[in-house]
Amino acid sequence: MTEANSKEGGSKLVQLKPVVKDYAWGIRGMDSRVGRYALESKTLQEIDPDCPYAELWIGTHEKGPSLLNDGTDRSLKETIGKDLPFLFKVLSAGKALSIQAHPDKPTAAKLNKENPQAYGDANHKPEMAIALTPFEAMCGFRRLEEVALLLKKHPEFAACISQEAKLAVFLADEPESQQSALQKLFSSFMSCDTSVSKTNLKKLLDRLQNEQSTLHLHPHDEPAWERKCSRAILRLAQQFPGDAGAMSPLFLNYLLIAPGESFFMAANEPHAYVAGEILECMACSDNVVRAGLTPKFKDVENLVNMLTYTMGGPSIDVGEPHTDDHRILRYTPPVPEFEVMILSLDPGDMCKLKNPGVPAILLVLEGTGKVDGQVLRPGRSYVWYTETEGNLDGDAAGGAATIDAAVKSKLKSLTFTVDEMRRGALKVAIAHVNLHVNQSTCFRRVESNQNLYTMHGMLPYMGRTGGTPSPGYLKSAYSDVTDGTPAIPKL
Ligand SMILES: [Zn+2]
Repeated sequence: MTEANSKEGGSKLVQLKPVVKDYAWGIRGMDSRVGRYALESKTLQEIDPDCPYAELWIGTHEKGPSLLNDGTDRSLKETIGKDLPFLFKVLSAGKALSIQAHPDKPTAAKLNKENPQAYGDANHKPEMAIALTPFEAMCGFRRLEEVALLLKKHPEFAACISQEAKLAVFLADEPESQQSALQKLFSSFMSCDTSVSKTNLKKLLDRLQNEQSTLHLHPHDEPAWERKCSRAILRLAQQFPGDAGAMSPLFLNYLLIAPGESFFMAANEPHAYVAGEILECMACSDNVVRAGLTPKFKDVENLVNMLTYTMGGPSIDVGEPHTDDHRILRYTPPVPEFEVMILSLDPGDMCKLKNPGVPAILLVLEGTGKVDGQVLRPGRSYVWYTETEGNLDGDAAGGAATIDAAVKSKLKSLTFTVDEMRRGALKVAIAHVNLHVNQSTCFRRVESNQNLYTMHGMLPYMGRTGGTPSPGYLKSAYSDVTDGTPAIPKL
């Protein structure tokens, strides 16, 4: 049985057939969670050990629309009668993805109009990553003190930056001049003559390699965050030979987060995933402005102009126990389009999940169990929707969802059970339109005069912080650079 119909509230749970993307950076064969999930959901009939399985798309995006896995192959969009405002993905990254940022709404509309070939979407694309394995990424610009320190330490990097930009970095002392210095530095680096950047990249790599091979003699000469930054450069250079983007850990924060930890990327924040597997949820869009570590179209000019130049790493979100049931962790970003819940159920346990009154996507991450008689296995995904849903639907554009409480209370809930003879917990991820937009678990949303989101709160990777930790913050067991506070260089 692939479909469970309920008479109460016309609520349905139907298995889906998501779409798989075989981008070159994906993990290959059965090692890829994306590949295994695609096999379980019958998207793939078999796994090719040499094929990179990079992304699994669950949603209604036109570049990868999910179908019903009930023998009809009807599209998800046709079934629920419209597009979902979000796209839910699993990513298995074996090597780094390009350095990129996603435009805000006005920029997306402009890019789409000017160059529809490269920018097929007019929508913005804020995104949230939840780690399924230890996960490495670069996200947001480093603080200017760190960049200044790294400029002094790595003359090869400094050689790729104009005198004017370097001076700006060393002289900036106010937040505004710091941001403008950072923009100058980034712009100068990105527009550096290729022959200059290639020569200096090679010099840098030769020196770092040499230092790495002798470093075991003096492991404490250098703070850990600097050592890890050097190691990251060497790894990226190996993956993308000759691409000056390998120097990006010198100006972008380098993070390692643990399973269950999450970070949110607002529009116009530079980032690059490096390795590991994640759940990713985003506004329904495929707009990417790329700037390096990729053979694809790079658009440096637009990228330099659109970035926010906020400094410091993102705050790490570990989810917040849901008020309905503490076995559900809620990951709520400060945008209306989506939020993600993760339900963890131990053997012998039972849980009733209230109907959210909006179409939801369920994805089994780990373990086995049952929901309303259907067998749940890792990789199976479902749409949970209500046939009379039209007037119950959340208003993604306006923020909070408007659901009639009386109607909602009649909607059928789902009952999850796990046999007590099972070994591990059942973990199910649930994504839907954001029903808690004013109770974000990521970080406080700050409106700047440009009406953009900026990242505030504690820096997860630095020893030195001002202010109080943001809610939900927990020092990551894996956090990359917690043990070093860079000394401010003497100018
Ligand atoms: Zn991205």
